[in-house]
Amino acid sequence: MEGKKLTMREAILDPKVTSITWELVPGRGAVGKTIDEVLECAEHAAKDPRIHGITLTDNPSGRPAILPYNLALEVKNIGIDPLIHFTCKDKNRNSIQSDLYAFERSGLECLLVMTGDYQTDGYKGQAQRVFDIDPVHTVKLISDMNKGERVGKTVYPPTHFFQGAVVSPFKRTEAEQVTQYYKLIKKVKAGAEFIITQVGYDPRKFEELRMFMESNDIKVPLIGNVYMLSYPVAKMMYENKLPGCVVSETMLRYVDEERGKFSRPRDAQLLRSAEMYAVMKGLRYDGINIGGHGMKYEDFCFILEKGEELSKNWQEIAEKYQAVHNDGTFFYYYEKKEDSIWNSEKPVDLDKTEEKRTYLDYKLMHLLHVLVLSKHAPLYKPARWAMKMLDDSPLKGIYTKVEHLAKVLTNNCKQCGDCAMPERSFLCPMSVCPKQQRNGPCGGSYNGWCEVYPDKQKCIYVMAYDRLKSAGDKEKLQRDYIPPYDAALYKTASEINFFCGRDFMSRKEYIEDINKVDHL
Ligand code: SF4
Repeated sequence: MEGKKLTMREAILDPKVTSITWELVPGRGAVGKTIDEVLECAEHAAKDPRIHGITLTDNPSGRPAILPYNLALEVKNIGIDPLIHFTCKDKNRNSIQSDLYAFERSGLECLLVMTGDYQTDGYKGQAQRVFDIDPVHTVKLISDMNKGERVGKTVYPPTHFFQGAVVSPFKRTEAEQVTQYYKLIKKVKAGAEFIITQVGYDPRKFEELRMFMESNDIKVPLIGNVYMLSYPVAKMMYENKLPGCVVSETMLRYVDEERGKFSRPRDAQLLRSAEMYAVMKGLRYDGINIGGHGMKYEDFCFILEKGEELSKNWQEIAEKYQAVHNDGTFFYYYEKKEDSIWNSEKPVDLDKTEEKRTYLDYKLMHLLHVLVLSKHAPLYKPARWAMKMLDDSPLKGIYTKVEHLAKVLTNNCKQCGDCAMPERSFLCPMSVCPKQQRNGPCGGSYNGWCEVYPDKQKCIYVMAYDRLKSAGDKEKLQRDYIPPYDAALYKTASEINFFCGRDFMSRKEYIEDINKVDHL
């Protein structure tokens, strides 16, 4: 193989290069075939200058597998950069920070920060969730560490991480899609240096994301995900068994029918991956992340080479996939061009898409906050005086219980004491959202339903978007950055904390309008 091999960071940041990464899934044990395969693939990739990195997943589907870290070190020692999936699901913020120090020590610099799939398995029963901080917080923590800023009680020398984040353009409903994009803006403001898409097969959606980033001045490199799709995996994606990965009914049918047209089903999967590669190239994605169960080096080379060859005809291929994938159930952020599968420059007018509903509880709570429970409210000062008196009085315990009861009745409150309900349309991100996302939805919502409770509970951000949109303030979900909650306030009264300057609103990390800051 000829040519100088770029590091992953160099390839992703070089606008003249399409970075190529290979996604591998470490197995569930410490030894065995899947581990050997990861190392074998890394050895091939290290010798191939076209491949810039190996992406290693972190417990996909919420089941315990070997952590990507040790394996990442082995991959690095083989001679190729690992990109570690760094999830927030099983670690609290201190554990996250400890891991980051260990990575820095080992020279593991490339991270892909994400929420992570909800726990679905564990020793003698399902594991307890953690989700102490969300991916926007984690990206911000890493940026602060890179700048050598204080992140606990001590300041340490700057770290050298190169971090990316994930977004899904493949959502079906307006509320899910728009809030995904709002969160994307926050991730980049917090310091994400590149973006990778979720898995999907809709060319118009891939174009939509690129257009959204350009029109919102998001200038970080964008990497498309190409997954070698077999029929069984397509069926799992269609049935929402792989959170966030999207295959429509029509696409599933296509994959099924296509199997019969090739002597080896694998050939159909490889050709489809090469075709999606060609579409990514045509849409000017800055990088392509390729993955798929049991992919061998020869398969990977086929996708690269065939993909390059097909990229001349990428428009035709995109038209085929658009016709196959779009079953009419997807929301698109931009109006469609006439006589074309592609988006026009004009965003859909979100104020005209749905009939506005009246949410009485939202209106009442909003009124209470406008009158008393906000810093500019006319009754703020007398209320603060009363709360400060209460803070030092024996009646504080009774008030704490009454406040908790009221919030249990409305939001099943778990009394975190650092209440973000007013910022989330009076819905609690700590108790309603099982992943405790304070800054926007995870990637796992499905048709508006929560990843963890499909067909039972709507995603909190879908509910919050509908309520705020009806009140004419949907952008609130994009505007504000809510810092991690302070666990020292657990089991205390959030309203007393607010008036006494102890909750997140009083801390300097709370940002009411991220559009006014260059960097969170
Ligand atoms: S409520 Fe929304 S953000 Fe929270 S876990 Fe469910 S889908 Fe994800």
